[in-house]
Amino acid sequence: MSEEIKAAENTGSNFIENFIKEDIAEGGKYEGKKIHTRFPPEPNGYMHIGHAKAICIDFGMAEKFGGICNLRMDDTNPTKEDVEYIDAIKEDISWLGFHWDDRFYFASEYFEQMYEYAVELIKKGLAYVCELTPDEMRANRGDLTTPATSPYRDRPVEESLDLFERMKNGEFEEGSKTLRAKIDLASGNFNMRDPVIYRINKIPHHRTGTDWCIYPMYDFAHPIEDAIEGITHSLCTLEFEAHRPLYDWVIDNITAPAKPRQIEFARLGINNTVMSKRRLRLLVEENHVNGWDDPRMPTLCGLRRRGYTPASIRNFCEKIGVSKTNSVVEYSFLEHCLRDDLNMNAKRVMCVLEPVKLVITNYPEGQTETFEVENNPNKEEDGMRTITFGREVWIEANDFLEEKVKGYNRFYPGNEVRLKSAYIVKCTGCKKDENGRVVEVYAEYDPETRGGDTPDGRKVRGTVHWVNAADCLDAEVRLYDNLFTDPEPDVGDKNFLDYINPESLKVLRNCKIERSVEGAEMPMSYQFMRLGYFCIDKDSTADNLIFNRSVSLKDGYKKK
Ligand code: ATP
Ligand code: MG
Repeated sequence: MSEEIKAAENTGSNFIENFIKEDIAEGGKYEGKKIHTRFPPEPNGYMHIGHAKAICIDFGMAEKFGGICNLRMDDTNPTKEDVEYIDAIKEDISWLGFHWDDRFYFASEYFEQMYEYAVELIKKGLAYVCELTPDEMRANRGDLTTPATSPYRDRPVEESLDLFERMKNGEFEEGSKTLRAKIDLASGNFNMRDPVIYRINKIPHHRTGTDWCIYPMYDFAHPIEDAIEGITHSLCTLEFEAHRPLYDWVIDNITAPAKPRQIEFARLGINNTVMSKRRLRLLVEENHVNGWDDPRMPTLCGLRRRGYTPASIRNFCEKIGVSKTNSVVEYSFLEHCLRDDLNMNAKRVMCVLEPVKLVITNYPEGQTETFEVENNPNKEEDGMRTITFGREVWIEANDFLEEKVKGYNRFYPGNEVRLKSAYIVKCTGCKKDENGRVVEVYAEYDPETRGGDTPDGRKVRGTVHWVNAADCLDAEVRLYDNLFTDPEPDVGDKNFLDYINPESLKVLRNCKIERSVEGAEMPMSYQFMRLGYFCIDKDSTADNLIFNRSVSLKDGYKKK
């Protein structure tokens, strides 16, 4: 047994791994060969969490079997590519922690070879130039019991060769001619009914300019790209399953330099969001969000800005597994994976989002004292920090009620509350402005309770976070909710734009945070005690601190 198989055997296996193991085993198709996969994004948008699944599978499988994975821009379609997207794709994959070294390719680099392979098929009598227009082709497609037809199918090889060359030379109009593989017009698989493999398209290409005016179709181009790069396993999503016979047909009928195997896995869907580059682009272009990296977007740059870590995303992809059935994963499961990571790794600090002043009337004016508090109870090595305390502290406005309500343990006149890590204080009342709004809360502290413990063991139920008013920073905090109100905004004939959540972003501009965060730089995540996990936003500056709520503390994910 090879080292690679042993390595894979040590961890849980999925069906892709099993196929690969079968192929590299004794007598297998790739016995003794290095596993070689590829990730082939079309550079027409930013990568989203669905792509992360594919990236983790493509790069992850290669890693697992000691092989390599190429990064290939699938840019055979001349209309949509953009350099901005290419750079972003590279950045996202690197951020996830995967490497392609010098194996970065463009499918458009192979246009010449693809053309040669098409000529080879024509010469073998396996392809012909068809002059049916797209409409006519549709009308002649046949149905389950009737085969498709084309009057051009049996034209002489020489004639097809001549016409194909003239197509290439730009002599014909778009839509007037195609090159079709000659396979089986009666096939039960419509992809095999003499599929179009080249079409005329007079749009300049972002890399090859106007060199070409004929472009290969995906089903013809992709197996060739894989074969040229010596890919052993071409891993893709389920919608290509019915295209596999065509993939294999192309490989079997050209003098392919390698014989890759296509294996399909289920696409990832997540509820309350959309997962198609086209739709995400619309959200950006119509300003429903603030760019591709808006923290509400399921794009990798959006998730990164939201505070997602590479580990949390890789862990998520690992845990959802690889299957053959498309399914929708709860958004709360993605959040669960982030919370898992941050709970272990994020430093704890105190921040008050909607502040009201608490005046401790029996605490000496002008006095300051300090407390040593731990940065992370789950990570002793993160050490301690010093926080200061004084006569006036900020507390959350909703931690005070003028009258007791059943089950409410925080500030109301007469009640004792613990100011986290500092003192037990007893609420004595409040001051209101002319509109009846509470502007100050009053309390008296018990000097015997320094550190937050009662010497006589009396029970204090409520503990609240606070920030020293004389020694804190102002901050803006952005709270996010689902971008869509409907769990499946783009299913069926729904228009996903009708379900945009108008309350998906809430900006709080008057927050108070302890000074210890001063000078922190991205990427940096904190647990704001009692509130959730927050990260520094890319627009944050020393004078204008901005934090994004990554995820709340409460785990909404329920195991089914
Ligand atoms: P979109 O529909 O979002 O534009 P796409 O499939 O057209 O996606 P590509 O750039 O062609 O995007 O995708 C690159 C790779 O990522 C492909 O192998 C594709 O199968 C995979 N992929 C795309 N979306 C998902 C998803 N939701 N789950 C898993 N893999 C995906
Ligand atoms: Mg696509």
